[in-house]
Amino acid sequence: MSRMLVWLRSDLRLADNPLFHFSTSPESLLCVFVLDDAWLDPLPGLEASRIGSARLRFLWESLIALRGELLKRGSDLLVRIGTPAEAVAELAETHDIDEVRVRADAGWEERQASVRLAERLGKQVTLTCHDGGTLLDETSLPMEVEDIPASFSAFRRKVERRWTIPVAAPAPVTLPGWPANAPRGFPSLGKVCDRAAAWAPDARAGFAFAGGEASARARLEHYLWESGAVADYKQTRNGLAGADFSTRLSPWLAHGCLSARQVHDEVRAWEARHGANESSYWVIFELLWRDYFHWAARQEGASLFGGRELPAPDEDFRAWCDGRTGVPFVDAAMRELSATGWLSNRARQNAASFLVRHLSGDWRLGAAWFEHCLIDYDVASNWGNWRYLAGVGRDARPRALDVHDQAGRYDPDGNYAALWAPAVAAHGEGP
Ligand SMILES: Cc1cc2nc3c(=O)[nH]c(=O)nc-3n(C[C@H](O)[C@H](O)[C@H](O)COP(=O)(O)OP(=O)(O)OC[C@H]3O[C@@H](n4cnc5c(N)ncnc54)[C@H](O)[C@@H]3O)c2cc1C
Repeated sequence: MSRMLVWLRSDLRLADNPLFHFSTSPESLLCVFVLDDAWLDPLPGLEASRIGSARLRFLWESLIALRGELLKRGSDLLVRIGTPAEAVAELAETHDIDEVRVRADAGWEERQASVRLAERLGKQVTLTCHDGGTLLDETSLPMEVEDIPASFSAFRRKVERRWTIPVAAPAPVTLPGWPANAPRGFPSLGKVCDRAAAWAPDARAGFAFAGGEASARARLEHYLWESGAVADYKQTRNGLAGADFSTRLSPWLAHGCLSARQVHDEVRAWEARHGANESSYWVIFELLWRDYFHWAARQEGASLFGGRELPAPDEDFRAWCDGRTGVPFVDAAMRELSATGWLSNRARQNAASFLVRHLSGDWRLGAAWFEHCLIDYDVASNWGNWRYLAGVGRDARPRALDVHDQAGRYDPDGNYAALWAPAVAAHGEGP
């Protein structure tokens, strides 16, 4: 019988979470989340923290929901603010822990934190890193992580040749008890950041995200079974405004309130009832993009971020962030991003391409700004997509979107531009 500590990061769920599956139940279980205080500091030159109000609020909601689920099963949650590896090491020492579990995250910094923790823990404590959240585990990949192909197409072809995705595991019914004298609970969000506590999305979003496993399941249920929107996903996924043109599952997937396998299982169940079509396949196809970026980030390590220090932002970059470029389609996207913490894939692509190709901006500044704003920020997907659009690193080739052409195609009547940037739409350039 061991005393275990589960260190939660981007895996804030009980269902399909290998950290909560035990071959032998431990004697006690301490569940810990540490908000990295460095995420609250301003990024150099950007005057914006790595975690913005929208994501911080969603994170807190997810933690509150998770604590509720843990309490129902006889466990609890402790949330600390500090340097994660240090905080976990101290708790392990104080509470005589003999095993620490953590997810094998894709991010370089998270992986370095696991290495630092292993050093701090010493030989008496076992640290185990578990895959989770993705469609495939490292052992079920048809290649070694070092051999992940440069292009998504090559990756997909290899994966789809041996296509078996394990079924998502159910949540445990009960959990081991809390260690005697261990602290519980967490500070109120207002104490961490007033702005995040008071944050609410702009009503024009037409959709409000709420953190937690139950909200994630409700959204999945709505998208597949209630609205049936999945039946047309392939045709609607390039939409810009509205609740159901795409799944909008990204914030829950990014925080781990939902796993990709849970989505996969539900899509397969929908297909069994309604018949598979191109659209239902395409949702899985997009989840495979997510897997690809995850495994590519594991392979790339620190080089994912493009090296060197970030350049100082210039006036063009600031105008891009604020939605003041004068191009209605781009300004609408950037204002929606700031006001809601979310953006459609089509708008993300155009905003990113405009910064890199039209303004000759540094893609790393753009990725850092998205990191600040997005509720669904995921290190591998964000930095991977930015690299892809900037045409750097793996699969490097020039990629440029003509935003005027794109606006004409995806916002032909200018409704999206008028929704988020009415004055620019009335007087700015282009369609
Ligand atoms: C510049 C840029 C930055 C991005 N940053 C992020 C990010 O930080 N976090 C994030 O989750 N996605 C990111 N994406 C990918 C994509 O835009 C979002 O996942 C998607 O728009 C979320 O909406 P949805 O859940 O309705 O997606 P859907 O279209 O319904 O797709 C279903 C799921 O598939 C995954 N997915 C879809 N497209 C991609 C993609 N291109 N790359 C990786 N996964 C994908 C997501 O998990 C998504 O929830 C970024 C894309 C670009 C172009």
